[in-house]
Amino acid sequence: MKAHLSTKTYVSCPNCGKGEHLVSHLFDERLPRAFGPWYCKHCGQSFSGTVKSETDIDLKLNYEQSVKHAVLLMLPPRDKPLYFVIAGNEIRRPDKSPMTEDDWRFRYESHQCPTNFIPVECIIDDGDTDPHGVFEFVRAVEWVDEPNNGASVDENDSHYAKLFPEIEA
Ligand SMILES: [Zn+2]
Repeated sequence: MKAHLSTKTYVSCPNCGKGEHLVSHLFDERLPRAFGPWYCKHCGQSFSGTVKSETDIDLKLNYEQSVKHAVLLMLPPRDKPLYFVIAGNEIRRPDKSPMTEDDWRFRYESHQCPTNFIPVECIIDDGDTDPHGVFEFVRAVEWVDEPNNGASVDENDSHYAKLFPEIEA
């Protein structure tokens, strides 16, 4: 099987020279085409630009700067569990049996840092900044359809309650 090849073009930040900001998705018949404001992930500088052709792109610096902060949030102690639904996956092979409940439990309670599957900067439990096992594995079911596929909030609620009846109070 031959691979389908694609080439992408990026511009660097005009302020710090770093970063890869994709522009090739803007290449079409409707050139010139303006884009931005975009914010550099390295220095936070805002810039805009105009694609005149695939090899001729103008950039200009804007006044705005994005200043990164660390924000501490706290979930106060509570009586009831707070549930999280995350997307997981199982690699299946015809010659291997499916993952057992213990395999899933090991994956989410012992094996990895909780920030791998709850993607935040840091999760801190009683001073421990890498609290393996802070989340309890409840159950994994095969993902049947996209819960956010145009569904209203109410429909999503019932979607998850059907998958996981234990989340109902
Ligand atoms: Zn920059």
